Amino acid sequence: MASPRRRDSGAALAPVPQPQAVLPNEVGMRGNVAVVTGGATGIGRAVAMEFARRGVAVAFNYIDMAGRDIVEQALLTETALRAFGVAVYSAKCDVRDLDAVERFVERVKAELGGIHYLVNNAGIARDAAMWRLGSDQWRDVMDTNVTGAFHCTQAVARLFRAQKMGKIVNIASIQAFHPSFGVAAYAASKAALIGLTRAAAIELGPSHVNVNAVAPGYVRTEALEALPSDVVDRAKKTTVLGRLAEPEDVGNVVVFLCSPEARHITGQVIFVDGGLSIA
Ligand code: NDP
Repeated sequence: MASPRRRDSGAALAPVPQPQAVLPNEVGMRGNVAVVTGGATGIGRAVAMEFARRGVAVAFNYIDMAGRDIVEQALLTETALRAFGVAVYSAKCDVRDLDAVERFVERVKAELGGIHYLVNNAGIARDAAMWRLGSDQWRDVMDTNVTGAFHCTQAVARLFRAQKMGKIVNIASIQAFHPSFGVAAYAASKAALIGLTRAAAIELGPSHVNVNAVAPGYVRTEALEALPSDVVDRAKKTTVLGRLAEPEDVGNVVVFLCSPEARHITGQVIFVDGGLSIA
């Protein structure tokens, strides 16, 4: 509580603000634990690497989609993370399956000693003109990008509330605001993820848990290679900075949002798009 100062004359001056108590989520990140969903590849991998660079232990999950050599990728990512001298845990876990997510979270706590940060990165796209999009494709995207993030948020929420500390960052997309042709399911899912971000920020804020989203533009990952090259070239030219993002450009912002320096930011969407959204 601020106490009023007095001059010698006895006149009251403005109250002197007293320093507020330092909360557990304001001390350094080293030694804490991050969960990054879909962290074996692409943006998730870059996020995991940045956490590790800052001395944060990392857990990540993946699934075994057809045509992907993901187990190998996961091993490579694990090795790269361990090179920073941090503990690492990775396992197969489908974010669409709540029981599997809860089991994964329990294992992470047992293996790494706790959880302090959650990055909901796992995501898929099923692009097609709306009139051709199958309801199974729609559901796949919603189940992964929205329900998956909800499951993971729910699975850590009790812990974060109890320890009065935690940071959650959701990987949304510029497509939630400026959709291209053929991305109805993806755009809707990322818009819903932003709604979830704001709702979670309201519910978890009183427990000193920050919840934010980043909205990348086009990022150079395997997912981008699936897009027609003229779409990518156009995006690059339209971007104010004239370049595509590297996965690290997103990873750095995500980890910043988990850092003590971002302690007063919550419920926000940070565009990491080289200015695409203002072009
Ligand atoms: P990747 O495909 O490399 O990463 C997605 C990750 O999510 C993969 O590791 C994948 O695992 C995992 N995943 C998918 N479904 C599930 C599931 N059900 N359970 C667990 N893990 C799952 O793509 P990006 O790195 O490009 O994308 C990462 C995030 O960034 C996504 O949410 C995407 O929408 C978003 N984003 C990407 C942009 C870009 O330009 N690249 C732009 C804007 C947003 P597996 O490898 O086993 O399939």
